[in-house]
Amino acid sequence: MNNIFNYTREKLVKYFDSIGEKKYKAVQVLEYLYQKKNFNIDNISNIKKDTVEKINKDFTFDMIQISDIKHGEDVVKYLFKLLDGDYIEAVLMKHNYGNSLCISTQVGCNMGCKFCESGRLKKVRNLDTYEMVEQILLVEKNDNIRISHVVLMGIGEPFDNYDNVINFIKIINDDKALAIGSRHITVSTCGIVPKILEFAKLGIQVNLAISLHAPTDELRNKLMPINKVYNLELLIDTLKKYIKLTNRRVTFEYILLNNINDTEECAYNLCKLISGMNAYVNLIPYNETQNFNFKRSSTSNITAFYDILKKNGINVTIRREFGGLIDAACGQLRANKGGNNS
Ligand code: SAH
Repeated sequence: MNNIFNYTREKLVKYFDSIGEKKYKAVQVLEYLYQKKNFNIDNISNIKKDTVEKINKDFTFDMIQISDIKHGEDVVKYLFKLLDGDYIEAVLMKHNYGNSLCISTQVGCNMGCKFCESGRLKKVRNLDTYEMVEQILLVEKNDNIRISHVVLMGIGEPFDNYDNVINFIKIINDDKALAIGSRHITVSTCGIVPKILEFAKLGIQVNLAISLHAPTDELRNKLMPINKVYNLELLIDTLKKYIKLTNRRVTFEYILLNNINDTEECAYNLCKLISGMNAYVNLIPYNETQNFNFKRSSTSNITAFYDILKKNGINVTIRREFGGLIDAACGQLRANKGGNNS
């Protein structure tokens, strides 16, 4: 049986058609669930009782649960318990332009980046679409707020769970469901090249961020095993194709690790690598964790790195820090809770 929160409008319309109901009932159900925030349809008024019964037989309305909430100065971190007992997390950031939720896409992650907590906990499974949708729904309902921006930068590699992620984007983007504008949705990947191309051809106006973190193959191979499969030349070539096809800018995320990837030489190599691209670089001070030896770059290294990029005509910002005090960096809350597989 299928969870109703896996269903796009298109699929719900087909379902209503298949049971001999009017197609617009699909929209009424979406509005009832997503906009009125009822998480079952037992009391929906504009659908007849026997149809409601039929829908209840054909779908589940199962939900993940909020298991813990931690409040920081500027972030709120939610730990969710899945139906099978595993844990994932989402982080809410309140900005002046709206509320942004960073959601998880997998239980654990197989990408094995050397600095990342999520990778320390190997992938258990992909999240189903409803488990991603419900992270947003539950935070909206629990806090009585509207989420205006969604970033897929929590636990997991979105492009290693491609179909469910695309399905999820279609649902949250639907103006009859969560109505989150595509330009307010950001997918972040460590660089799974074939999926970047597929994503480009899809023709949706969603932002793409690339976790780059190193400007040479030699260094990137050491930090991010995915680089041994899709090296920098291939990645950059693919991104150039993406930019051409979509006419959209790409964001490069670059964590600054003290004396590892924050040297002047690295900065110059980065300029060379991405010069002329319609891209911008987001420099991220590393959130130190007790499980790794990496250290956050010194302020002077961060500034020097930033200045070199700026002087070489690269669009660059330094990310305002979020969540350090409550372990809100990727994977940290779940890692300390243990999950099911640590
Ligand atoms: N797998 C995807 C999305 C999840 S990770 C990806 O790689 O893009 C989201 C971002 O957080 C990535 O850029 C990741 O490298 C970064 N990250 C992981 N651990 C971090 C830490 N301790 N401090 C700061 N950023 C971190």
